Amino acid sequence: MTDSSSASNFIRDIVAADHAAGKHGGRVVTRFPPEPNGYLHIGHAKSICLNFGLALDNPGGICHLRFDDTNPTTEDPEYVNAIQDDVRWLGFDWKDKLFFASDYFEQLYVYARDLIRKGMAYVDSLTADEIRGYRGTLTEPGKNSPYRDRSVEENLELFRRMRKGDFPDGTHVLRAKIDMASPNINLRDPVLYRIRHASHYRTDNTWCIYPAYDFAHPLSDAIEGVTHSICTLEFEDHRPLYDWVVKEAGTPHRPQQIEFARLNMTYTVMSKRKLLELVEKKLVAGWDDPRLPTIKGLRRRGYTPEAIRAFCDHIGVAKRDAVVEMQLLEHFIREDLNKRSPRVMAVLKPLKIVIDNYPEGKVEELEAVNNPEDPSAGTRAVPFSRTLYIERDDFLEDPPKQFFRLAPGREVRLRYAYIIKCVGVTKDPRTGDVTELHCTYDPSTKSGTSETQRKVKATIHWVSADHAVEAEVRLYNPLLRADLSKMAEDRDWTTDLNPQSLERLTGCQVEPSLKGAALGSRFQFERLGYFCVDLDSKPDLPIFNRTVSLKDAWSRIERGPSTR
Ligand code: ATP
Ligand code: MG
Repeated sequence: MTDSSSASNFIRDIVAADHAAGKHGGRVVTRFPPEPNGYLHIGHAKSICLNFGLALDNPGGICHLRFDDTNPTTEDPEYVNAIQDDVRWLGFDWKDKLFFASDYFEQLYVYARDLIRKGMAYVDSLTADEIRGYRGTLTEPGKNSPYRDRSVEENLELFRRMRKGDFPDGTHVLRAKIDMASPNINLRDPVLYRIRHASHYRTDNTWCIYPAYDFAHPLSDAIEGVTHSICTLEFEDHRPLYDWVVKEAGTPHRPQQIEFARLNMTYTVMSKRKLLELVEKKLVAGWDDPRLPTIKGLRRRGYTPEAIRAFCDHIGVAKRDAVVEMQLLEHFIREDLNKRSPRVMAVLKPLKIVIDNYPEGKVEELEAVNNPEDPSAGTRAVPFSRTLYIERDDFLEDPPKQFFRLAPGREVRLRYAYIIKCVGVTKDPRTGDVTELHCTYDPSTKSGTSETQRKVKATIHWVSADHAVEAEVRLYNPLLRADLSKMAEDRDWTTDLNPQSLERLTGCQVEPSLKGAALGSRFQFERLGYFCVDLDSKPDLPIFNRTVSLKDAWSRIERGPSTR
């Protein structure tokens, strides 16, 4: 991808000004730093678009993909691969700048030892609970650890033995020596290293001490020569520590941290912990379940990278937390698919109709427009015959006044075909359910012919029963029935999962042109929404995911209540 967003934001302005002023030697280097402990979601997409976008904006700019893999117990190569795949699918390229924080473990250890030598770090032997107790509160200063004044020699020796594996987990930590009375709790001698006898997916058992995020992250940025280190707002209070670490370590490069508000969305979950819980408890089908806001889920559901980028561009980047409506994301995929997806006819809940006056065995090939938004998409032939399926919802035996579709004695137009009239209703004698309709057609009303003067109030879609392909259709509704952002933290949020989040419709009938449609291909089912072919499809049973319905709740909201 070569284009980047058009909207400006405060971070773009800062970076452009730095670039123009020749700060950081005129270089622009950003990074996207995921921890490989889960799959990426739409919130990460915001960060990806921002970081890679900044690199594209500025001549010579580059964005690194760096795995912040400093936590051995939660990380996995499965996530490393999935993350790379997703960033590429979103349309971004890190060129040869693929990095792993775990590759810096040796360098980080050396930086830590240098800090000890300068008297700026010490080995503490308090327990985790004691450290917490000594830390103080927002209103009270902390207390110095009794181990704070160990000699440089003793600290170096203990740190060496920590690395060697002489001590069990939790017995010692390395801490920065800053200020236990600082009003910023992050500066009260933060922990830089912990002992953890655990094997790491890349470094195996080479290490049994692992650097804390607040130590590894700024130094990884500095080692790579990152100029602008963009992170989410919760790290604002960590910035003084970020700056302290790079300054005291004396790295050749001094990256600058800038914070922005993370993306939150209604009626879905975005925390990796919660997403993992859904996957592990099998409350969803996997990381790519189309109900999830993961990139893999959105992709399987039929989202395009273009729509996700346009959405990220539109929401912009700000310094204040906000919750974005799911309907806004839906608006962008609708706009994109409206332009590019071929129209087809599909009947989700079929009701058989017989056209009594249409000759038995006759088949007409009717011409249907593939995409009214794109004349170059051309037309296709759709077979018409005596027995058809229409949507069950398009018929009512006893319709209210405002119902203009099919009913006994009423007329409708069949899309691309004829005007038909319902002349008889067949029911199951036991249940009373309508099983079949009898209709007549008016041969003079064929679509596209000049005599078609007669107007009816509704046009409905249909498929020819003998030609249709049977399909399964999966409809998706919000994953949650409550808005988690308004909910107490301690509540078991899984009780708020929407039991109707997935509706599986079987026995659907789709037009024959969909036979053999490629996995992942996208269509508009006329009047019903945008659909894409799911990975679970079989050659004789295509499965379609509804990406989004046609109703655009967002543009209705934007137009205001008066036009409803
Ligand atoms: P964790 O709780 O494990 O840190 P995380 O969602 O922050 O989870 P990371 O892998 O650390 O996951 O995220 C990589 C990058 O994506 C970080 O720079 C982070 O700030 C950014 N990011 C994560 N979630 C969002 C979000 N909702 N909106 C915008 N950016 C996000
Ligand atoms: Mg994070």
